[in-house]
Amino acid sequence: MEISRRGLLKATSAALAGSVAFELSGQSTAFAMDTQKQWKLEDTEEYTSICCYCACGCGLVCSTRDGKLVHVEGDPEHFVSEGGLCPKGAAEFQTDMLVNPETRELEENESRIMTPMVRRPGSDHWDQISWDDAVDEIARHIKDTRDATFEETNDAGVTVNRTPAIGALGGSSMTIEEEYFIVKMMREIGAITLDNQARV
Ligand code: SF4
Repeated sequence: MEISRRGLLKATSAALAGSVAFELSGQSTAFAMDTQKQWKLEDTEEYTSICCYCACGCGLVCSTRDGKLVHVEGDPEHFVSEGGLCPKGAAEFQTDMLVNPETRELEENESRIMTPMVRRPGSDHWDQISWDDAVDEIARHIKDTRDATFEETNDAGVTVNRTPAIGALGGSSMTIEEEYFIVKMMREIGAITLDNQARV
């Protein structure tokens, strides 16, 4: 059978249109089925928090269901960020949960460290320890360091009661009240070097 160039174009266009129509009807069925799914934020509880990544301290709304984090977004009522998050903050959800690229299901982020870790002098790896042991060890190190370096007077004989060997660096996600408490605590042990990431 002979077919003209014009006839070939017509036949090709008709076939293409048929295939697009078929595809669209498949998509609209899938879309209709999609709407049957549970809304992402249905039956969730909301908590406000602060982004832990930098000194801006943008506000977050964290949604949980059955104790599991299911969504994080900017807090529109937060006085610093008014709902905005930078790309890093917008990816904050991944600190707790990840989307499996194959199944598209949520999975816990197994890279997240949930317990204190310690790397002993000379060791080439980190060990998990309990919270109680971590607090005890930190307290012991602070006390020993303070006792070994405490200065009651300076070179001119003026009373200073300080240790130059201990410093404190606060994090951006701490509140003013927490920072106030840290300053009080550090001053009590004689630490004079205090700073905070928020200042940076
Ligand atoms: S959202 Fe971005 S700018 Fe805001 S605190 Fe987090 S890292 Fe900083």
